[in-house]
Amino acid sequence: MNEWNIQSRAHVCEACAQPFADRQPYHTLLLDEPPALRRSDICEPCWQKTFAGDARSRAGFISHWQGVYEAPAPVVDAIQKETAETVLRKLIEQNDPRYAPAAFILAVMLERKRILKVKEQIIRDGQRVFIYEQPKTGDIFTIADPNLHLDQLEQVQRDVAALLEQGLNPPPQPATTEQNSAPVENETVPQPIEQAATN
Ligand SMILES: [Zn+2]
Repeated sequence: MNEWNIQSRAHVCEACAQPFADRQPYHTLLLDEPPALRRSDICEPCWQKTFAGDARSRAGFISHWQGVYEAPAPVVDAIQKETAETVLRKLIEQNDPRYAPAAFILAVMLERKRILKVKEQIIRDGQRVFIYEQPKTGDIFTIADPNLHLDQLEQVQRDVAALLEQGLNPPPQPATTEQNSAPVENETVPQPIEQAATN
């Protein structure tokens, strides 16, 4: 099961559906609603009316924080250079477990550069999961700790360097879109990055 995803900040209050205005304070609730984590963005008046003082007793409560809504910047029509953040977003969108170690390292890099902030660390299904926020956009990145071993680090660092240099190549697409009935034993299963632990 993959524990990484991005959840964007809502543009309207979940409770009253009013659009957020630029610079308006809001509240984010992070809730465990198996199988996923869900964020809920609430305007201040609704928060006071409904949740204030009572957020922690909500079913599945994981975290609560306050933010200030920033209206999205106008789309700039420029060639987007690959950055650690754009590569990380693409990795998460692709959701390919082979890239889990690289995604984790990129998130750590971005945290050191103060582009991402750790909001919460939780244990889910026995795995450590980091909840990062990109404060400018309010996006939440959920990244599972892949428990890297020292002997994996060098390879992962090479992978990250290559991703930053060349970007993420699109994964090979199936020749046809109608492969749902293909027998399982004929599919090629990609091997996860894994080191032999026995020695
Ligand atoms: Zn509201």
